[in-house]
Amino acid sequence: MDDTVNGASDEFIVQLEDVHKSFIMGKEAVLALRGVTLNVRRGEILCMMGPSGSGKTTLLNIIGGLDTPSRGHVIVDGENVVSLSEEKLARLRLRKMGFVFQNFNLLSNFTALENVQVPMVLLGQRDPKRARELLKLVGLGDRMHHYPSELSGGQQQRVAIARSLANDPPIIIGDEMTGDLDTATSYEVMELIARLNRERGTTIVYVTHDPRMSTFAHRVIHMRDGRLAEEQVVDAGTG
Ligand code: ADP
Ligand code: MG
Repeated sequence: MDDTVNGASDEFIVQLEDVHKSFIMGKEAVLALRGVTLNVRRGEILCMMGPSGSGKTTLLNIIGGLDTPSRGHVIVDGENVVSLSEEKLARLRLRKMGFVFQNFNLLSNFTALENVQVPMVLLGQRDPKRARELLKLVGLGDRMHHYPSELSGGQQQRVAIARSLANDPPIIIGDEMTGDLDTATSYEVMELIARLNRERGTTIVYVTHDPRMSTFAHRVIHMRDGRLAEEQVVDAGTG
């Protein structure tokens, strides 16, 4: 296969073209994505909504390099993700992507400070000073040596956000980031995400079920049955 990236764009940090994904379950193929074409601008906050099973997580995983499409093109920050080896894909994830999940996914026997450094360690670039700065950035300067069990859900998610920034990635991917948080805490987490976008220019691609949390996006897309069903441009993000 040709390794050069035809049509890679400076304007778009993520370019998906006719992306399909099928999973084999026993004898049946589940068509999770049925031809998704989508560009994400640098510095954009993009929200994805849609019913359970419509393919949102599969799409996020493909953007994040956690999974590869069965068919179609995926370009992330100028790199053709589909043609990368496992090892190169892992490095691309560590350098370009920050991940924030619904259940925080912190390591329970590591402190906040240690958790933030995990992606640095995986890239061979441990930097405790920078990790402390990131925890201060998310408002946890006084909780650095706490274990996850000693933190509230909102605090744990802020540790996860600090961790997502460990290697200063241009993109943050969030799958139901506020799904386990109460309303006030959800707004706090989304305000933090919006601030990172404003102050650092970080591109945000996130999935939510909660229409109130979609107001932080510049654009909201709706998925149905593995396809993009509709799109709303919200402009500057009102959250
Ligand atoms: P959403 O995040 O919108 O709820 P998903 O992307 O998780 O949807 O799932 C889309 C479809 O793909 C569903 O029918 C789901 O069951 C199926 N699916 C997702 N991941 C897998 C997998 N690893 N193996 C088999 N089927 C899967
Ligand atoms: Mg999902």
